[in-house]
Amino acid sequence: MTAAGPPFRFACRRSGRCCRVGRGRVWFEPEELPAMAAAAGMTAEAFAGRHVVRVEGRWSLRERPDGRCSLLEGLNDCTIYRARPEQCRTFPFWPSILAGGEGLRRAAAVCPGLEILDPAGPKGSEGPEGPEAR
Ligand code: SF4
Repeated sequence: MTAAGPPFRFACRRSGRCCRVGRGRVWFEPEELPAMAAAAGMTAEAFAGRHVVRVEGRWSLRERPDGRCSLLEGLNDCTIYRARPEQCRTFPFWPSILAGGEGLRRAAAVCPGLEILDPAGPKGSEGPEGPEAR
């Protein structure tokens, strides 16, 4: 990334692909759970039982067998949109994507609203995992 800004242009096209395509997890902090549960019209306990998995001590939203987030309806309708976790709200402005390299290329392969400004050569960190969300 340069001082001029991120190495990409982004305009969300509401494709929903970040919620259903690619690999990775939607991590969230436990403090975010009550608002997500309220947005889903569920108690925190019911929401956790239906939509949350623990992975190596961290909290993650559950995926359906086909990789879609369990909170996604149809192609692009997040059922808890107003309370979606920070990871979702900040995509694609994640350090692993802002750094360029493989993380940026993976994100651009998933998201049709993300355009790499210098496709010939983002040089940043490869990052261990690239984008973590769908
Ligand atoms: S919580 Fe909502 S915005 Fe985040 S991945 Fe799931 S459906 Fe998409």
